[in-house]
Amino acid sequence: MTIKVLYIEDNDQNYYLVNFILNAKGYAVVRAHDGREGIGMATKEMPDLILLDIQLPVMDGYATARELKKIPHVGMIPIVALTSYAMAGDREKALAAGCSGYIEKPINPKTFSDQIARFIPADSSRGAGG
Ligand code: MN
Repeated sequence: MTIKVLYIEDNDQNYYLVNFILNAKGYAVVRAHDGREGIGMATKEMPDLILLDIQLPVMDGYATARELKKIPHVGMIPIVALTSYAMAGDREKALAAGCSGYIEKPINPKTFSDQIARFIPADSSRGAGG
């Protein structure tokens, strides 16, 4: 079964790079451009993993993570924050908001898929009988 990743990201270049890397890995990627759209798409798509930019319009990544964690079933989906290296405290705030982990931007294309693979639940993808 195909692993589905929801990537909540307002920046097109970041999205294209991650989409390219994850498509090459065989993952399906769906995108939301802001937190509000991301919450709607998470509920509709039930992805295996959510990648969450922190600096987003409408509501920031922390607020988005907190809202996602309150939603039944969606709240079980692991969230990995994409944090800015320069922003001290981003990582702690991301974990406090309910993220399972964080990856610093700029991402490393060579290691990115391995970095996120460890956050994908072993029973993924849904529809395989579970
Ligand atoms: Mn952003």
